[in-house]
Amino acid sequence: MGTLTELFAPDRIAVVGATAREGSIGRAVTDNLLSAFDGEVVPVNPNYEEVLGLSCVDEIGEAAADMAVIVVPPKIVIPALEQTGEAGVENVVVITAGFGETGGDGASRERELKEIAAEYDLNLVGPNSLGIMSTANGMNASFGPDSPEAGNMSFMSQSGAFITAVLDWANDEDVGFKDVASLGNKAVLDETDFIDHWGDDPDTDVIIGYLEGISQGREFIDTAREVTQDTPIVLVKSGRTDAGAQAASSHTGTIAGSEQAYEAGLDQAGVLRAESVQGLFDAAQMLANQPVPENNDIAVITNAGGPGVMSTDAVGDSGLEMASFEQATLDTFSEQLPPEGNIYNPVDIVGDADVERFSEALDIALADDNVGSAMVLSCPTAVLDYEQLAEETVKMREKHGKPVAACFMGGESVDASAGILNEAGIPNYFDPSRAIGALDSLWEYRGIQQREYETPADFDVDQEAAREILERVEERGDNRLGVEAMGLLDAYGIPTPDGDIVDSPEDARAVAEEIDGDVVMKIVSPDILHKSDIGGVAVGVADDEVADTYETLITRARNYQPDANLLGVQVQEMADLDAGTETIVGMNRDPQFGPLLMFGLGGIFVEVLEDTTFRVAPVSETEAREMTEEIKTAPLLRGARGRDAADIDGIVETIQRLSQLVADFPAIMEFDINPLVATPDGVDAVDIRLTVDPENL
Ligand code: ADP
Ligand code: MG
Repeated sequence: MGTLTELFAPDRIAVVGATAREGSIGRAVTDNLLSAFDGEVVPVNPNYEEVLGLSCVDEIGEAAADMAVIVVPPKIVIPALEQTGEAGVENVVVITAGFGETGGDGASRERELKEIAAEYDLNLVGPNSLGIMSTANGMNASFGPDSPEAGNMSFMSQSGAFITAVLDWANDEDVGFKDVASLGNKAVLDETDFIDHWGDDPDTDVIIGYLEGISQGREFIDTAREVTQDTPIVLVKSGRTDAGAQAASSHTGTIAGSEQAYEAGLDQAGVLRAESVQGLFDAAQMLANQPVPENNDIAVITNAGGPGVMSTDAVGDSGLEMASFEQATLDTFSEQLPPEGNIYNPVDIVGDADVERFSEALDIALADDNVGSAMVLSCPTAVLDYEQLAEETVKMREKHGKPVAACFMGGESVDASAGILNEAGIPNYFDPSRAIGALDSLWEYRGIQQREYETPADFDVDQEAAREILERVEERGDNRLGVEAMGLLDAYGIPTPDGDIVDSPEDARAVAEEIDGDVVMKIVSPDILHKSDIGGVAVGVADDEVADTYETLITRARNYQPDANLLGVQVQEMADLDAGTETIVGMNRDPQFGPLLMFGLGGIFVEVLEDTTFRVAPVSETEAREMTEEIKTAPLLRGARGRDAADIDGIVETIQRLSQLVADFPAIMEFDINPLVATPDGVDAVDIRLTVDPENL
């Protein structure tokens, strides 16, 4: 696949299926291209001599084009695409629908389309795409009703309809774009290709997107990490709820990954995630026009007490903080402001404030090193001219080079001033929380820019030993493994208690005698998933009770399920539960992001509180450590109420080692260490469960 530069900057576009027939898509695309495209447009259609005044060729081979837009009926897309490939045209937008999204015939047609694209190495957008646009050359290769205005954001969307709605709105709001792409079914080019391209495009300052799914999660993360070093990416990912995911899947045939995977994956990728379309554009416009702040302290300058309090609340809900001014700033405020004002943040310059007082106060606040950004918050008064205030706000923003948001409250009286602000890249909002939210995105992006992504550690492990254990599922005809596979942990250096699996009371006793103190005994059977639920775990067994306990456990298992496959009984050293905390370290393979690691506290915490956190593997040490820090019950690990802190380093290393194990073996579909007992002296994995896909071994 070549670069996408040519896709957005072709010289000659062939419209395969062009027609003058009113109401047809072929007509709409041709009209749109004729409206402003700098290059040539060549209609391709054997039924016509000319289309809309352009002479029409029979096949694409005669068009001498460097890009093709395909709008023919679904049944003839495949031959048309083949001719396109034969003609050496590598950039193709397939607008025709009726592919993977319809299932059945459509799905097999999509497979054929992919094969042809691979054969001819095509940069193919779609199928089922609205088209693509670029304001750099006036190209509107879509059937949408509007063309975008020029700007420095590039926009991709998995929904074409959403693009038409956004452009309609954006044109009203004077929001412009560099490129726009409707991804359609993403049969060939997907979101990763576009962010990769726009990341290198000097005219794209912010990438925004509406996605219903991400095709290759890990690839997306790795690409986005590079791109977001200098180009912010803001995404709305719909289908956050199960019902939403279901709807998305029938819309574009997206296989939904889990919301936890998206949340973790997009965060690890350095993507800013917006919850709503409004949040998307609030963040994007701020990022497209203003510098990132040096710190997260914000100054609020206001002529109104009530909205000032609202802004304080909004700051409290964000990653920003109310700045504490330097003494010199406070002194100047005291001199300049009326005594009934407030010199502390939010700075209340009182209801009779005119433009001059506003401007001075903003100037003073922005000059303070403790202030990273500011918000001008005003209510209309008889002494205040909004347009002049807008001009002063712009002037101060430029003078100090710090980000400023505006919240000029009101209705029609605001319109003219909002235009002035908008022109200068300062969005104006009625609601202080939106202004704060937009500034917060800038701050969040600064954090992303400063991230350093470490390579995951590569521990010295015994892969061969692990493989042998995993291969046992093949002979067992069952893809689940339990404590009989504890050797996997030994092979990957994750601590386990001493012990062994035995199949007679005598051997049980012999193993127990080798172990100091009482032991734990557990039934071992792939048919018994939750051992303690059937009384299959005996904790604190003295040596002379071991033989009897063996019989008891076997009897209980037989009573539970007479034909259960019993592999024996595990005799295990006791972990110190009094001094320790039961944690859980697990992995689930997500269809989009691959191995998704989970960490949380074990027992009731995991089930009742759902106090867990997720990362896409492989993880670095920092990512593993964050997991241990961000669960709600993290203080318990750090040692609450006089307890000693657990060995958090041991947990971190266990997460990293499990990460390596599941990355090394794609055959491992699920893995749970539950519990991993973490005491002040170390960690012990006392129970495991995993599912293996033998096909992948
Ligand atoms: P299952 O999850 O199948 O019921 P486990 O092996 O996790 O079986 O045992 C259940 C519980 O028994 C654990 O959560 C833990 O509280 C306790 N337990 C199991 N093994 C040990 C051990 N070696 N030392 C101390 N407690 C243990
Ligand atoms: Mg368990």
